[in-house]
Amino acid sequence: MEGNSLNLIDTHCHLNMPPLSNDTEGVLARAAARGVTRVIVPAYDEAAWPEVEALAGRPEVFSAFGLHPWVAHEVPPGGSLADFEKRLATQLNAGSAVAVGEIGLDTKVEDCGLTEQLPVLETQLALAADLDLPVILHCRGAFEELLTAVNKHGGQLRGVLHAYSRGPELAERFIAAGLHVAFGGAVTRDRAKRVRNAAARLPLDKIVLETDAPSIGLDGVLPVDTEPGHVHDLAQAVADIRDESFETIAEVTTANACRLFNLTT
Ligand SMILES: [Zn+2]
Repeated sequence: MEGNSLNLIDTHCHLNMPPLSNDTEGVLARAAARGVTRVIVPAYDEAAWPEVEALAGRPEVFSAFGLHPWVAHEVPPGGSLADFEKRLATQLNAGSAVAVGEIGLDTKVEDCGLTEQLPVLETQLALAADLDLPVILHCRGAFEELLTAVNKHGGQLRGVLHAYSRGPELAERFIAAGLHVAFGGAVTRDRAKRVRNAAARLPLDKIVLETDAPSIGLDGVLPVDTEPGHVHDLAQAVADIRDESFETIAEVTTANACRLFNLTT
């Protein structure tokens, strides 16, 4: 099953980054040819907000705005966290945003520790809850801290834990906190036992698909060559792992993404 009758969604792709940004038309046409008809583009820093906003002028592109933990030290760039919150609220209210993201925690950032990242994350989580928008969460090495921050909202937050690469138990705790889990290229790798186990076991209504292109590759596909069209391969991989039909996985993951990000089905 290729193309036409499909309606797959890449819930996380950095279309504003090269090489994707060098050929937006081609990337989206190749995606559509494989049945990937919509792409969510999360901006990771303030400098990227205008280009992501511009991309979202296209009918197949949806935007998310936030400050990634890798650049959390950009707050304050000569201003306060309260000023940043105002600018983000303005951007989120500008019309095109379907989520707050990507935001999160990462212990592997050299010049920006969790002490700096946490207030920036908490500000953005609170704004998402206020505006009733889902969050797109990045996490490396700080799952407990992230879970604590999410749980402070008492189940009122919805969103997705993106680029999931761990086992089912941790994912189940995030699902219990009200989140969805996004699977990407890792599920295509035979040796990625933990995440394939998660893809096999998690409730199907809590799963979405994403490429995170051009940051993450698939088995046999380099990150730099990854495009939204590869969501087709991710749906196939999850179908194989779960012993379900490709059509079921395609349909359900699209329905999940539509519900989560409030997109039309
Ligand atoms: Zn990303």
